[in-house]
Amino acid sequence: MARTRRPLIAGNWKMNGLAGDGVALARDVASGARQAGWTDRDLLVCPPATLVAAVVEAVKGSGVLVGGQNCHAKANGAHTGDIAAEMLKDAGATYVIVGHSERRADCGETDAVVRAKAEAAWRAGLLPIVCIGETLAEREAGKTLSVLEAQLKGSVPAGATASTLVVAYEPVWAIGTGKTPTTPEVAAAHAHIRKVLGGLLADADKVRLLYGGSVKGSNAAELLAAGDVDGALVGGASLKADEFLAIAKAA
Ligand code: PEP
Repeated sequence: MARTRRPLIAGNWKMNGLAGDGVALARDVASGARQAGWTDRDLLVCPPATLVAAVVEAVKGSGVLVGGQNCHAKANGAHTGDIAAEMLKDAGATYVIVGHSERRADCGETDAVVRAKAEAAWRAGLLPIVCIGETLAEREAGKTLSVLEAQLKGSVPAGATASTLVVAYEPVWAIGTGKTPTTPEVAAAHAHIRKVLGGLLADADKVRLLYGGSVKGSNAAELLAAGDVDGALVGGASLKADEFLAIAKAA
């Protein structure tokens, strides 16, 4: 059966990249994407906010998309050090990651905060990638599916549709550790996410569900082949153009 959901390979550069190396990385990704000539998948890079505009310029004409890593719920105001979704949009971004586990842990972002950020993304015309995932303690306690369900119900705004939402399943214990769930475990989590989305959205079968957590060139094909996986959210491996492009090729 033909795939109905267009794969998305998204790179989360986190707090990495200065003007020199960040723009060079973006150029290398863009040139690899141009050479490959893919028309059946989306490639997205999410640099630090300081580099969004420069990266938009560097990837111009390649089809590579650019996103932010976070946004504030408000459009403007007295929020020192924060960035509005409108600012990311103004700089040329089209996506924004919200609710990454590092922000949930480091900045105390709750599901309600993540939901407000996803709504802010819509207000600005950005597509939010809502991240959810269980900790190791939650997995070991057998709570993975209930944690995912609660996070989804709390973080996905009412009115979401497949064209206004991407969900990334990122087990916290798999991020940056080199550990990954087995393919059946990924498939089970994604199947449950899609089932829960079915109670929230009319077109849940069309929502793109990304897997994230220690994805690299060598394991991408296997992870991306798991049921209900429509792409990857890639951290460390997105800082090397060759690795990121190898993951995109596996899609
Ligand atoms: C991430 O932080 O979104 C991530 C998936 O990181 P890594 O690929 O390095 O595990």
